[in-house]
This record gives sequence, structure tokens and C-alpha cells, in this order.
Amino acid sequence: MKRADPPLSPGLRPTRQRRAILHAVAAEERPVSAQDLHARLRRSGESAGLATVYRTLQALADAGVLRTFQTPAGEVAYKVCEPGHHHHLICTRCGRVEEIPSCEVEEWASTVAKRRGFSVSSHQADIYGVCASCGKRRRT
Ligand SMILES: [Zn+2]
Ligand SMILES: [Zn+2]
Ligand SMILES: [Zn+2]
Repeated sequence: MKRADPPLSPGLRPTRQRRAILHAVAAEERPVSAQDLHARLRRSGESAGLATVYRTLQALADAGVLRTFQTPAGEVAYKVCEPGHHHHLICTRCGRVEEIPSCEVEEWASTVAKRRGFSVSSHQADIYGVCASCGKRRRT
């Protein structure tokens, strides 16, 4: 699935390097760690140093352009998320993150909250487990 790179945040100057890094993250199917991204960029001829890649990814995450996840190895990994409220299915084996655009938690969250006199401002829910292809691999 090919989609356009997300726009850089207005607070970030669109330098060539930032765009290249964002483009590389957007091309990944899974969240990618700074080290993996750095290695990939080098292979494609991009000269960004590891410290720059770290800093840029962090700046993009702080600006809300990227979201952070954890790799199965416990590293911080970055991903371009769909805009708007959504949820994730996260595979703890291969690190794949699936976007769930619909929200079926809303009603449950407000019911639970209301019962305790709590008014909801937001909620988060990600589901962790083993994805279909990892599950298949284990059985064969
Ligand atoms: Zn997402
Ligand atoms: Zn998996
Ligand atoms: Zn939701």
C-alpha cells in the first residue's frame, strides 16, 4: 500500500534530511528503530549520522508526526500513523502494527466512566498479541 508522506509539522523546518527520514519511515511496513532506519538510509546512499536520525525521529514524534511503539526487542520504534483517533493491534513477535480506524471503545469507556461520576476527555487502547502470519508460522 503506497501513500503520500505525511506533512511535516509546521514547527519543523522541512530540511531535505528531515524529509528523507520521514519518507523512509513512511515506507516501512512496521515501526522502525533509529538504528534500523539509519542502516537503511546508509544503504540507500543517505549520509545522515545516527545521532541526527535519533534527534530527527524524536523531534517528529514530539511534533506528533510519528508515533512511538516498542519493538519485540524493547527498542523504541517509530511509525507514521493514520490521522485521527484510532487503535492498534500490535504483534509482540514481529512488531507489526495494524491500524484499527474504527473505535468501538468509546461507548464502553463513557459507560464505565459515567458510573463513577467521571467525565471522559480521551481514551487509549492498543491490543497486543500474535498476528495472523506469526500464528501460522508457529503452527507449521
Ligand atoms: Zn496508528
Ligand atoms: Zn507478527
Ligand atoms: Zn477509541
